[in-house]
Amino acid sequence: MPSYNPPVKDVRFILDTVVELDRYSNVPGFEAASADIVAAVLEEGGKFAAEVAFPLNQIGDLQGCTRHDDGSVTTPEGFKEAYRQFVEAGWTTLHSPVEFGGQGMPTCVATAFGEFMCSANHSFEMYYGLTRGAINALIAKGSEELQARYIPNMVAGTWTGTMNLTEPHCGTDLGLIKTKAVPGADGSYAITGTKIFISAGEHDLSENIIHLVLAKTPDAPEGSKGISLFVVPKFLVNDDGSLGDRNAVSCGSIEHKMGIHGNATCVMNYDGATGWMVGEENKGLAAMFIMMNDARLGVGLQGLAQGEIAYQNAVHYAHDRRQGRALTGPADPQEKADTLFVHPDVRRMLMDGKALTEGLRALMLWGGLQVDLAHKAQTEEERQTADDLISLLTPVIKGYGTDKGFEIAVNCQQVYGGHGYIREWGMEQYVRDARIAQIYEGANGVQAMDLVGPKLAQNGGRALQLFLKILAEDIAAAKAEPRLAGFAEALEKATGQLQAATMWLMQNAMTNPNNAGAGAYHYMEIMGIVSVGLMWLRMAKGAIARIDAGDGDKAWLEAKLTTARYYAEQIMPDAGALRRKIEGGAETMMALPPEMFANR
Ligand SMILES: Cc1cc2nc3c(=O)[nH]c(=O)nc-3n(C[C@H](O)[C@H](O)[C@H](O)COP(=O)(O)OP(=O)(O)OC[C@H]3O[C@@H](n4cnc5c(N)ncnc54)[C@H](O)[C@@H]3O)c2cc1C
Repeated sequence: MPSYNPPVKDVRFILDTVVELDRYSNVPGFEAASADIVAAVLEEGGKFAAEVAFPLNQIGDLQGCTRHDDGSVTTPEGFKEAYRQFVEAGWTTLHSPVEFGGQGMPTCVATAFGEFMCSANHSFEMYYGLTRGAINALIAKGSEELQARYIPNMVAGTWTGTMNLTEPHCGTDLGLIKTKAVPGADGSYAITGTKIFISAGEHDLSENIIHLVLAKTPDAPEGSKGISLFVVPKFLVNDDGSLGDRNAVSCGSIEHKMGIHGNATCVMNYDGATGWMVGEENKGLAAMFIMMNDARLGVGLQGLAQGEIAYQNAVHYAHDRRQGRALTGPADPQEKADTLFVHPDVRRMLMDGKALTEGLRALMLWGGLQVDLAHKAQTEEERQTADDLISLLTPVIKGYGTDKGFEIAVNCQQVYGGHGYIREWGMEQYVRDARIAQIYEGANGVQAMDLVGPKLAQNGGRALQLFLKILAEDIAAAKAEPRLAGFAEALEKATGQLQAATMWLMQNAMTNPNNAGAGAYHYMEIMGIVSVGLMWLRMAKGAIARIDAGDGDKAWLEAKLTTARYYAEQIMPDAGALRRKIEGGAETMMALPPEMFANR
């Protein structure tokens, strides 16, 4: 049977040494995040994840959701009661603005809790997961009236939110959407169309479901310039806040899919449903991007979370399973065989898992800090810096985070040999559940294109220049510390590969845009390697400072340093090969005519 132990100690180390949470007590919302409060949130949040959500993970996978003839959907056994406890304990309010009834805790603290919940039960987490993004979109673009009507109950968790973009004929290319919004005399719109793959589109956990829906008004311009955003509740809401009539939106069916069986992925039919516009007409995609950016960071976190739980279980298994002998002679001569830990190839998989989960965790918690600083830092310059960094790194956190999360899950399944393929051990579920994160919320190839296109070019490349400056400063400072110098040099080399790849793309994408498309994925990976490398440099520095200060947990801190060295030796060198692939350009990739692919 699989188990889950929330990595609270690692989170606290990162919050202290990489995020340096205590430096930001002057930022609104952070004053409430004292060390004691954060420790309590992590302990209690970890407990909820491990004791309430995790025991339902395999049940959810086996049972899935059921759609009934009347269009209602029942979630797996135990989900409803667990959601009631989730709401009652106030977990939905953790990170929401105080003015709408939230606790206003920093994003990085909510990110840590989000990781615990996704590791414990990815499907369950998703029922509330998208609500936060919907709240942010309503806060940024909704009228005061819409905000007052919907947000407090969404913060309280009694209502949940969804994101309705995808239609049968379009997912990436949203300019093609067909859903119509026809204005009524009272300021509302009649929404008609079909949305597919809508996560948590219908379920029995909350009293109301608030759909954020992309649609086109009758005279809207063609393509993405003609998209507007609407809020469409499952139950209409009366002026006094009570629930009114059922709206004309219903779940037509639920998908049978590879993983996340416990989450209802719905076809949603809008049959003249009543909706209200959020923000300006034809500016809906920009408004939806507020929700999507939040969701992309959340999906990156799902990648890490699946990698983490797979890693934890593989570690237990490697301790228990005895096969063969160490290459250097028996490690446990009194036993008939040694544990899997003696085999370097098993170590390779586990060390990759350790180095990547800890590095990605640091990147995501630090990314959470940038989200808050982008809105709340005291000076315009600080806000701009944070905004540049998080907008540059959002596609990397989503794309690299989910690719590596899946890779870790597969490697950790491999540690189990044939038992990894057998359902009762739980590992095959982590592989199946991790896979979706690479696909939804903008497939990873599209994230890569976002990075090499808009994100690099924005403001004349200002964000990348800023990121490179931070790297250069950290590397220069680390070189002065002998215990960090080797790591700093490895990061400097990988950063050099990033710069060379950037230069090549700048010189070769103008003449042939396919060169950018062909190298985009590799570029996203180099950026992932370097950003996680920066995090490892900061963690190594923090570990050394604690060792020097005589911190009690020396073995744990030394393990951090060894893992940093492993990352420098085994993962960072990939940046060189990736750079060379980018320099290969698009020529051979685009050379074959499409008919030659099937001609075999
Ligand atoms: C379980 C599940 C849950 C989902 N939840 C939601 C949800 O809650 N709300 C919602 O609106 N949608 C949801 N989706 C939809 C999901 O976001 C889309 O499936 C995804 O964005 C890809 O769109 P598509 O399936 O239409 O693929 P396509 O757009 O057809 O893409 C096919 C392939 O082509 C590539 N591609 C397409 N265009 C480009 C390009 N310009 N450059 C490079 N590569 C390109 C893509 O990367 C992909 O590999 C969900 C999907 C699933 C399976």
